Amino acid sequence: MKYDYVIVGSGLYGSVFAHELHKANKKVMVIERREHVGGNVYCENIADINVHKYGAHIFHTNDKDIWDYVNQFAEFNRYTNTPMALSKGRIYNLPFNMHTFNQLWGVITPQDAKEIIAKQSAEFSSIDPKNLEEQAISLVGRDIFNTLIKEYTEKQWGRKCTELPSFIIRRLPVRFTYDNNYFNDRYQGIPVGGYNKIISGLLEGIKVETSVDYFDERDYWNSVANKVIYTGPIDKYFDYRYGALDYRSLKFETELLDIENYQGNAVVNYIDKEYEFTRIIEHKFFEFGTQKQTVITREYPKEFESGDEYYYPVNDEKNMQIYKKYYSLTMENEKVIFGGRLAEYKYYDMHQVIRSALSAFRKEVVTSE
Ligand code: FAD
Ligand code: UDP
Repeated sequence: MKYDYVIVGSGLYGSVFAHELHKANKKVMVIERREHVGGNVYCENIADINVHKYGAHIFHTNDKDIWDYVNQFAEFNRYTNTPMALSKGRIYNLPFNMHTFNQLWGVITPQDAKEIIAKQSAEFSSIDPKNLEEQAISLVGRDIFNTLIKEYTEKQWGRKCTELPSFIIRRLPVRFTYDNNYFNDRYQGIPVGGYNKIISGLLEGIKVETSVDYFDERDYWNSVANKVIYTGPIDKYFDYRYGALDYRSLKFETELLDIENYQGNAVVNYIDKEYEFTRIIEHKFFEFGTQKQTVITREYPKEFESGDEYYYPVNDEKNMQIYKKYYSLTMENEKVIFGGRLAEYKYYDMHQVIRSALSAFRKEVVTSE
């Protein structure tokens, strides 16, 4: 056999798996449909600014092993994500914390904020939240739901808050301290020089072909390797046998501006439905850039249509029922390992996808030897 493994997709999952296999002296080949490696963490340099081409990526984790793992390939700066939200002409701090409560209600103490939230969430205090709307109101009350969540979420997902799973909103911390850090994790930052540095470190010494779609020559790729590691969409792999899964896609509109500072922050969320985009990213702030120009990106959510990129799995009940059927097919298929955000249909962050790839590698190579 020419290769021990052919890896379909060079995102973080495929690149971490490839790196570990290569280190274990396996013969590996990576194929990538896009013109470049890195999947959604890829950065493009525009006017000396690392532009997060597929959306803002902030690395964060509580897991020291994962932090040490990524630090092998790049140094990280001390960027802390503190996004702002614009709602009905006023600016608020995120995630939901004492600054937000003060901006909304004028309260100063945690006791006063808790009292308001308890009143506004009383109706859900003794029930198990069934959907995102109930979960949000029970965590932060109705005012915050109406001002900072409802319209943003319905734009982002193209579905009502009552039709979305509650875990999505639990991603966001709620704090009764004056702390605007978007994440609770111990480690956080942006790789100095951008994410491409990590990907090129992971793929060093490994054979990679870009602009190659596995499905164009599926039989060929299956025939040259003992095993395939597949990181693309799961429904496509099985020819949509149980129907197509829903994905949310995005359109990005990027502009280079001849000003130094457009919005004063890396991320500003636009809550109101009158804006078709959900957020504007000003990329230089991820690396404390002092360039004379700036690059901004507006992010427009949309339902996935043929030809779009896949970004978010829609983990609602209907789709999870379909996914379960595909998952059982993966269990019968010993020649293929399915992993990553698209093949596992999971709302993974970067640290979680790295952990998942390392665990799958250990199961595949370390424990079987
Ligand atoms: P991907 O990066 O999607 O890689 C899959 C690769 O497979 C792609 O390159 C694709 O082109 C290729 N591929 C697919 N099909 C084929 C085929 N048939 N043949 C060949 N190649 C194929 N995480 C964080 O931790 N922090 C953040 O701030 C953050 N922000 C995000 C913002 C946005 C807008 C999005 C969409 C995601 C964000 N994430 C963030 C999540 C992060 O992007 C993912 O966890 C991670 O990139 C997933 O890696 P992956 O390898 O599973 O998938
Ligand atoms: N969210 C919101 N208002 C905001 C930011 C987030 O309602 O200003 C909700 C929205 O439903 C979103 C979810 O919280 O999908 C998770 O937010 P996160 O920033 O983690 O989303 P991602 O960066 O993955 O798009």
